[in-house]
Order: sequence, then C-alpha cells, then structure tokens
Amino acid sequence: MPKPLDPETRKQLIARVNYYRELGIHDFYRQPAPESAAIEQTPQEEAVVAAGRGTTLFDSALPVIPDKPAALKAIRADIGDCTRCRLHKGRKNIVFGVGNVNADLMFVGEGPGADEDEQGEPFVGRAGQLLNNMIAAMGLKRSDVYIANVVKCRPPQNRTPERDECDTCSPFLMRQIEVIRPKVIVALGAVAAKNLLAVNDSMASLRGRWYDFKNARLLVTYHPAYLLRDPRQKKEAWKDLQMVMKYLGLKTKAGSAAEG
Ligand code: URA
Repeated sequence: MPKPLDPETRKQLIARVNYYRELGIHDFYRQPAPESAAIEQTPQEEAVVAAGRGTTLFDSALPVIPDKPAALKAIRADIGDCTRCRLHKGRKNIVFGVGNVNADLMFVGEGPGADEDEQGEPFVGRAGQLLNNMIAAMGLKRSDVYIANVVKCRPPQNRTPERDECDTCSPFLMRQIEVIRPKVIVALGAVAAKNLLAVNDSMASLRGRWYDFKNARLLVTYHPAYLLRDPRQKKEAWKDLQMVMKYLGLKTKAGSAAEG
C-alpha cells in the first residue's frame, strides 16, 4: 500500500496535474522515486503559488515570470533525453528553441530539418536564412525574437510530423510560450497553425486575420520552406508580416519585400 500523502503534498500534486491538464497533457509516466523525494516545482508553479493564485497558468493576471532563463531551463530539463515518441530514434539533437526570452515576437515552425538537427538550433538551414531575411525586413534582428518548433526532433526524411508526435511534443511549446509571453506569435505554415489553434482549416482560410491565443495575438503565414518553393507567395507573406509590424509599432522600411 502506498503511503497516504500529507495534505500539502497532495495539494501540490493536484495543482501540478491540473497544470499539465491545461497544457493538454493527459498521459503520465511513472518513475520510481526515492522515499524522501520532494515534489519540485517549476519556476512558473512557484510563481503561481507565491502569488496565491489558482492553477490557471494562462490567466492574464499572472505575474511575469521573474527568471525566464531558469524557467526555460526547467522545461528543457523536463524534456530530458526524450523518448516519448518515435521521432527520438532518428534525431541527433533536440532542437529546443532560441532567441530573446523577453521577445515581443515569437515564430513557431513545424520541426527541425537536417541542419537544425545537426546544430541543435531552429531555422539555421535555407528556410532559416529566408526567415532571417523576413525578420530583417521587419527591422528586427534574429536575436530580438524567439523561435521554436511544434516538434523538437527531426522527422525522418523531413516528413510532416504526425498527429501523435505533435500532441506529445506541443505541451513543451505551450510552456515555452507561457514563459516568453510574446505579444505576437507568428505560426509558420499549416502544421504550426493547426497545432496552435487546434483547427484543421486550409492555409487560405487561416491566413490574413488575427487570433487570440492565450495572452498573445496569433497570425498565420506561409512557412519559409514553402516560400522557397513558390517565391511568388513572398508578397503575401510580407502582407502578413506588415500586419505584425503595424500591431507592434515597427516601422516599415520603404521598398522592403522580404526578398531572398
Ligand atoms: N523548418 C521548420 O519548421 N523548423 C525548423 O527549425 C527548420 C525548418
């Protein structure tokens, strides 16, 4: 018979389970723990407890997380040497995310390709160069924004990540978003858009409008890899980015059209 939990531990356990539930995590893995193991709280949870609030982590009244690098480190530690889905089998590196922890703007892609898998950083290949150009056209530097993907391991042959792979990995992305708290999230392509918005619509119907996403506004645009295949759509992507610039009060550079 397992030992009954003391009321405080039980309260913390319930809070943690509710927290994961809000992030869409319903499956739990049992790991043997030493008798004396304490329940550790992530910095986010500590912030919630310290503020005496409930467990609604996307509550807009939540205090800003004071130590974002530590909170991100905690998420990365939770991912660990992940084997939760089949994508782990072919990966070299887990591609967590990169950029300014205080970014107003966050880009979310689909999943790492070969270059990203090699280097452990999102969007460093050809699509990444185009993304860098898009960011520069907005008058920003790559280091001003935060970049992450829906899945953190490279799908074999760069295939589209499958539903269960996205479902397993996206809770970590949700936690990253919760820590970064960007004002705007740009979903790059259909996989990012559909996973973040939990819809199954076409790109044509997803683009061109704002969505409320937790504490942020979300806009959908074309994935840079798609723009490399069909450069005529860059004009359309630039229209999307101009909506973001207007919202964030960024100045349009005359003649800029995210070429490259
Ligand atoms: N495509 C993506 O969706 N993400 C990357 O990190 C690289 C290419």
